[in-house]
Amino acid sequence: MDFALNDEQKMMIDTVRRFIAEELRPLEDRLENDGHIDRDTATTIHEKAKALGLYALNMPAEFGGGGLSNLDRILCEEQFGHTSDYLIRRAFGNVYEPLLHCRGEQFARWLEPSVAGKRTCAIAITEPGAGSDAAGIRTHAKKTDTGWVLNGGKHFISDGEWSDFFLVSARTGEKEISMFMVDKGLAGFTVGKDQQMMGIRGTPHLELFFDNVQLDDAALLGERGQGFKLAMSALNVVRLAQVGARAIGKASHVLELMTAYANDRQQFGQRIGDFQMVQQMLADSVIEINAARWMVYHAAWMLDQGFDAREQIAMVKVHAAETLGRVVDRAVQVFGGMGFCKELPIERYYRDARIYRIFDGTSEIHRGVIAKSAMKKGASLFELHR
Ligand SMILES: Cc1cc2nc3c(=O)[nH]c(=O)nc-3n(C[C@H](O)[C@H](O)[C@H](O)COP(=O)(O)OP(=O)(O)OC[C@H]3O[C@@H](n4cnc5c(N)ncnc54)[C@H](O)[C@@H]3O)c2cc1C
Repeated sequence: MDFALNDEQKMMIDTVRRFIAEELRPLEDRLENDGHIDRDTATTIHEKAKALGLYALNMPAEFGGGGLSNLDRILCEEQFGHTSDYLIRRAFGNVYEPLLHCRGEQFARWLEPSVAGKRTCAIAITEPGAGSDAAGIRTHAKKTDTGWVLNGGKHFISDGEWSDFFLVSARTGEKEISMFMVDKGLAGFTVGKDQQMMGIRGTPHLELFFDNVQLDDAALLGERGQGFKLAMSALNVVRLAQVGARAIGKASHVLELMTAYANDRQQFGQRIGDFQMVQQMLADSVIEINAARWMVYHAAWMLDQGFDAREQIAMVKVHAAETLGRVVDRAVQVFGGMGFCKELPIERYYRDARIYRIFDGTSEIHRGVIAKSAMKKGASLFELHR
């Protein structure tokens, strides 16, 4: 086993880290206070990231993407965790893996412009009546001679306001779910309110309504009845990257602030970092972040080797999200009143972290997956040489 990073990987991490520190972090307070940044600034950071080759890193080079391995992508995503969700989306893009199932004319309509940053996409699976039970959706599409007619609605759709099209799951038969690429602006497709959230300020979360929306045949992603399965499996790597790796990055960022404060803040004539109870909070955070980091890297390595990493990613999803939750909670404690006060970003990190245990499958859903696999496969689930 070789745990060392090579020179290119180190350079890539340094480039992303520097870009975030110089271009994105200075925008964070404005984003938090105003709830948005203007389109010109968003365009500027998008162009700068693109010029550095940092846009659509997860997409294959043949389509104009970064062509990174899963491990290399994860190393970048970990760095993305050091800034806000919305700024990551604007600078580095949000080109979802299910789009790789595009075929024929779909390349030019949806995949290529997304990789080029000309079109933005969101995933629309959740409905008010179907969250964890993603197969329980009521949105449906009926086949016609020329295509499909879509009816129903979605909610909580991240980045919906910025998106030009949506990957929408819809029932195409009693026991059949398919995936469609639905362009904003089609007749009968309306966007509802932006659902206000506890954290990740700036990212809009929209309701979508479909009222007899006419889709042409090319809007179907993958085979009828198969697209949903394809999308769900492609979303596995999104979960590893956007939840697992970013959670570790966010927790590391908070830990850096915590340790600096523990070194600096004096009470009773000494650094608070000299009190053992504060040290325990620091030490537990260091241990848990490192453990979660290796789980993330290992799952990415498994994907690169062609192994099925579903269970490992479920484990990462639970452990990284919950590690982040514990670390930000300790950070508020270490910072004392300043941890609760809006003059510092600690309270923001605390709010932003909470969603990690909920989106992309709740901790409970992933624990269910892990437990079922463990009961079926026993100890082999945890061995490397399966
Ligand atoms: C900020 C934010 C962004 C989001 N972005 C998107 C997006 O871009 N696209 C999209 O499609 N969706 C998105 N979602 C939806 C998100 O994926 C769902 O909220 C999540 O899957 C949980 O579904 P739910 O909210 O309906 O909760 P429910 O499924 O109603 O769950 C409620 C509770 O019941 C528990 N529970 C449910 N079923 C089980 C079970 N079988 N065993 C044990 N416990 C169970 C859950 O763990 C949870 O604790 C987003 C949500 C939020 C809040």
